[in-house]
Amino acid sequence: MQTFVWGEEFYTGVGPIDEQHHGLVDLFNRLSESLTEREGEQGTADNTVESVFSQLMDYAQHHFTVEQALMQGQGVDARHVMLHLKLHDDFIGQVRALWGARAALSNPAEVFLSFLTSWLCAHVLGVDQSMARQLDSIGRDETPERAFELELLRPRDKSAEAMIKALRNTYQVVFRLNLELISANRFLEQRVAARTAELQQANAALMVANQKLEVYAQTDGLLGIANRDFFDARLSEDWNRGIRERSPVALLMIDVDFFKNYNDHYGHQAGDACLQAVARAAAAKMVRSVDLLARYGGEEFVVVLPNTAIQGAHKVALSICAAVSALNIAHCASTVAEYVTVSIGVASLLPERQSQASQAVAAADQALYAAKQQGRNRVCLAAN
Ligand code: GH3
Ligand code: MG
Ligand code: MG
Repeated sequence: MQTFVWGEEFYTGVGPIDEQHHGLVDLFNRLSESLTEREGEQGTADNTVESVFSQLMDYAQHHFTVEQALMQGQGVDARHVMLHLKLHDDFIGQVRALWGARAALSNPAEVFLSFLTSWLCAHVLGVDQSMARQLDSIGRDETPERAFELELLRPRDKSAEAMIKALRNTYQVVFRLNLELISANRFLEQRVAARTAELQQANAALMVANQKLEVYAQTDGLLGIANRDFFDARLSEDWNRGIRERSPVALLMIDVDFFKNYNDHYGHQAGDACLQAVARAAAAKMVRSVDLLARYGGEEFVVVLPNTAIQGAHKVALSICAAVSALNIAHCASTVAEYVTVSIGVASLLPERQSQASQAVAAADQALYAAKQQGRNRVCLAAN
């Protein structure tokens, strides 16, 4: 990239100063090259770029110190020296600010080059040339005050002055626009981060809501146990697994005895509470995690016991029957006991290919019917 076109007009005639200006231009180029290589990902190490930058800053500081010593040594008028030093300070501050924020620039090489070169052009053509002329005047025995005033009286080259002004304006604009861009980018990044966080929160809340909804959709509202839909799905899964693994699936159909009478006698609310108590007592007998108690409908419950033979299912049924009786919920409208009781039908089937899970339900239902027929408050096994 072509950087600084050095022409006659940049020579100040002050030997060491001109040399150092050349040195500065060389470092501008090196910085621009190392930044460009980095953009092109040619593996220029970060510390190379950093080291070129710190060389540039050291060299600029050194150059400013030399200029300052020269001006003070020759007694250049304080009005000029103050302005000159302020321009040096501003330069250092602005370059450092841009450098600190360069990660946010899309094309740092271009930004730095245009800033550095327009600054140097404006500076050399402006104050440095003026300083050189004052040094020259002082060398020709003018007083520093007179040398400074001669600068003010110099015939003006309007177009050259306009150009210097335009250059000065350019580097100020490059500086200001880039810093604005950087802060706009930061603001944007912060907003994106905030929105992302909000979105993540909303997603997490949605997931929790979905989980709750899923549980809600699978649960019976009154009894807090699995509902019929969930039972249907689970039985079908267990049935299919039974086919694959050649293992039996047992089913218990549980029905509260004379429950219509219970409602009629104690009222519907007491009936609800009774069903809740029965559900809790039955749930307490589900010892394995794979066992499922569900509400089949009304005052009927169903239990699925995967991989369970009839003897095991019978035991569970007996324990539920006993647990409900042990609740000792008064039921004076029952003819089988003075407390609430249940009848249970038990079936255990070995699922076969082409068979349906509904066969197990029908078998358990028949056994329940038999239990009712045989007087209630009992467990009946399905005929195999
Ligand atoms: P059986 O001994 O032959 O089972 O007689 P039953 O009276 O228990 O059977 P039936 O099917 O005639 O009556 C069931 C009753 O259960 C009728 C219905 O109002 C009641 N019931 C069903 N669901 C609920 C419920 O959620 N709450 C209450 N309180 N009662 C319910
Ligand atoms: Mg019933
Ligand atoms: Mg009943």
